[in-house]
Amino acid sequence: MILIVDDKPENIFSLKTILELHSFPTDTALSGEEALKKILRQSYALIILDVQMPGMDGFEVAEAISGYSKARDIPIIFLSAANTDKKFITKGYSSGGMDYITKPIDPDILLLKVKTFYRLYEQNRELNRIQASLRSEIEFRKKVEGELQERAGELHSILESLPQIAFTTRADGKIEFVNQQWLKYAPSKTEFPPTHSDDPNLARQWEKTVATGSALEMEVRIRRNDAEEYRFHLLRVIPIREGEMISKWVGTFTDIEDQKQAVRKKDEFISIASHELKTPLTTIKAYVQLLDRSIDEPDPTKLYVERTLVQVKKLDDLIVDLLDLSKIESGKLKFNKKLFKFDAMLSNAIEMIRQTYPDYKIVQRGEADIELYGDEMRIEQVVINYLTNAVKYSPDIKEIHIDTGVQEDGRLFVQVRDFGIGIRKDHQSNIFSKFYRVEETANRFQGLGIGLYICAEIIRRHEGEFGVESEPGKGSAFYFMVPVTQAHSYQPQ
Ligand code: ADP
Repeated sequence: MILIVDDKPENIFSLKTILELHSFPTDTALSGEEALKKILRQSYALIILDVQMPGMDGFEVAEAISGYSKARDIPIIFLSAANTDKKFITKGYSSGGMDYITKPIDPDILLLKVKTFYRLYEQNRELNRIQASLRSEIEFRKKVEGELQERAGELHSILESLPQIAFTTRADGKIEFVNQQWLKYAPSKTEFPPTHSDDPNLARQWEKTVATGSALEMEVRIRRNDAEEYRFHLLRVIPIREGEMISKWVGTFTDIEDQKQAVRKKDEFISIASHELKTPLTTIKAYVQLLDRSIDEPDPTKLYVERTLVQVKKLDDLIVDLLDLSKIESGKLKFNKKLFKFDAMLSNAIEMIRQTYPDYKIVQRGEADIELYGDEMRIEQVVINYLTNAVKYSPDIKEIHIDTGVQEDGRLFVQVRDFGIGIRKDHQSNIFSKFYRVEETANRFQGLGIGLYICAEIIRRHEGEFGVESEPGKGSAFYFMVPVTQAHSYQPQ
């Protein structure tokens, strides 16, 4: 908006007409005082100011304007009589743009000047806008940077207080911060601790991790700079994300040597103890079996001997499980795979369970008249384990269903279903883990929690899959699938 200040309405009228004809919005004031009031209230792009006015003249108005911080940059075009000395025109107004036009006004010159100032004003306004947005951007960045630094500071204090070796890296994997513990193991603040010669090199491993963008968890042996002995550490590094992007990585090395040794000792103990127990037990079993054969039916001691044999068998099974466990731990669980008749093996297993638990009804469904390539004894072990668990965990409903068949994908399917206590959903994914027993029922049913772990290992080693479907109070269905070459069509019910 352009403000025209003149004491003569006819002058104002002619100026206003010229400007509005060229689409410039205008405002008017008939005196210096009125002009100043308007300038205070509104912002103008340009002021056209008559020099000679009664009361405040144009110079005084300009001088007053230069004192207003809000208005001092508004350009002014003075309207002066032809004979006004130029030096008077510059008087009192030093900031903002300025020009003058002599009367009588030449409309072309007026428009030229107005256009120039208007363009300047617009450019200025644009510059101011850009400047303001840049300033706010800078402010914002400063604030964010400050916050980030504060957060990094907090994180560093936390990492410094940890007993573990801790560090952070930039998104590209370059080490950024290390705590004091790091320096006890690493050659410098920017290099990873060297690992045992049998373990992977950490710098290389780290490069791969950064490329994949997913968390790293591995066990490595590292040693203190002042020690000879390497100790196992668990290295965990996780990416910190801001939205989709990784902003940094945070990692720790935790000394797990003592736990490792404890596990090693426990494994050694289980292995030695089960071997040591197995030999005398085998002898006891042989003698009790001899005794059993030497006593004839009417003798009441035969009953005791038979009961002893049942208990000896239970003990023997436990020890065999413990031996298998230590073989799995040491990678020595061997498989003797060859083709065998699956149906025959299954009938044997079921027969054995029927004899041991005569009050249980075992319903066999489906068929699997195939030759399976695998370790017959081990597959039988899985089936017997599923069946004995079905018996053990269904003390009330004494019926068990066993479904077998070959699926469309060519795999053998075996499922043992009971109608016993069932397993809660949150336990189901754990029961194939080592030593896992459902706590609520652990006291009621004896066991070591390794049977299913061994089954899982056996099935895995046959490239198979396993699982359970169960509902508390309704029973469980344990199943496994292993590949076979012969295909029959079968749909599990
Ligand atoms: P164990 O029976 O010696 O405890 P397993 O490894 O055979 O060990 O089984 C692990 C756990 O899974 C058991 O302790 C029990 O809680 C649960 N479980 C296994 N089979 C069944 C089943 N048929 N019904 C209900 N729970 C079962």
